[in-house]
Amino acid sequence: MVREALLYEKEEGGSVRCGLCAHRCRIAPGKRGLCAVRENQGGVLVSLVYGLLAAENADPIEKKPFFHFLPGSRSFSIATLGCNFRCTFCQNHGISQLSREDGRITGRPREPEEIVAMALESGCQSIAYTYTEPTVYFEFADAVAVIAREKGLKNLLVTNGYMTAAMLERMAPHLDAANVDLKAFRDDFYNQRCGARREPVLESLRRMKELGIWVEVTTLLIPELNDSVEELQGIAGFIASLGRETPWHISRFHPHYRMTDRPPTPEASLHGAARIGEDAGLKYVYCGNVPGDAGETTFCAHCGFPLIQRYGFAIEALHMAGAACPHCGTLLDGFFAASGAA
Ligand code: SF4
Repeated sequence: MVREALLYEKEEGGSVRCGLCAHRCRIAPGKRGLCAVRENQGGVLVSLVYGLLAAENADPIEKKPFFHFLPGSRSFSIATLGCNFRCTFCQNHGISQLSREDGRITGRPREPEEIVAMALESGCQSIAYTYTEPTVYFEFADAVAVIAREKGLKNLLVTNGYMTAAMLERMAPHLDAANVDLKAFRDDFYNQRCGARREPVLESLRRMKELGIWVEVTTLLIPELNDSVEELQGIAGFIASLGRETPWHISRFHPHYRMTDRPPTPEASLHGAARIGEDAGLKYVYCGNVPGDAGETTFCAHCGFPLIQRYGFAIEALHMAGAACPHCGTLLDGFFAASGAA
């Protein structure tokens, strides 16, 4: 399923320059980029994972997580192998890092039309490009997104935000919403823990907002790594600068992959981070990976009335009048089936 890449340039000596993400890899003939799923074959950059799915599931949209985009719906979620980050705490390292670790390329062959048909048959209202990093399988994601849009499905990106503006602008006409990981607010965290830089992520978030894409932000709160007051104030302040209506999901860390040297995030830390988000003026702050916590509930930003009560990825109760609070009439920010409002 090899397919010529989009957004690359040919350089002297048969090398190519990939334009999908901020690494902008210069790739010599016969070599692969940092994500290990894009290869220079005779001066032509190809995607090695076009249509080779490593995962496909009809998930609750809350699992992505999206809390303000078609709540209660299901999203057909797909991924190929590959990632442009190498986070030591990756929850999906079995598929995101496999090609980097041993060069393997594998997956179930699928055509874009099949994905859309499966999404419709399973009653999903959207397709999510998720689990690994969709930027590195952009060619396939974009092909699916075009057909999905024609069939009335929404397109959702769950991403580390490291794509170039060129990639974002190419996908934007078909893209409805994105959940972007803002993993920390220090460049050295991005450098040491992810093999990347912070600034391109911030730039993508700003650009998504300008393009009119609905944005939610997720931060995995890791004890003693990104949980200082200063760091969290930096993240919360930046999200508020995008727009106070931008939801912030603060997610609980569990020891995993190559980061087993610290305990799960204490619930008190999650609640402390949430208060910092509220103090920064954010209207919607959530605590994730703690089923049953009050931090999973959507409250009216005006009167505090509980509008959507959740348990994990399930909605337990929905108290809304269309897209509005039944108590004070304030519209809830986001995209809801009843109103179609965004
Ligand atoms: S998508 Fe892969 S090959 Fe392209 S610049 Fe990013 S890491 Fe390099």
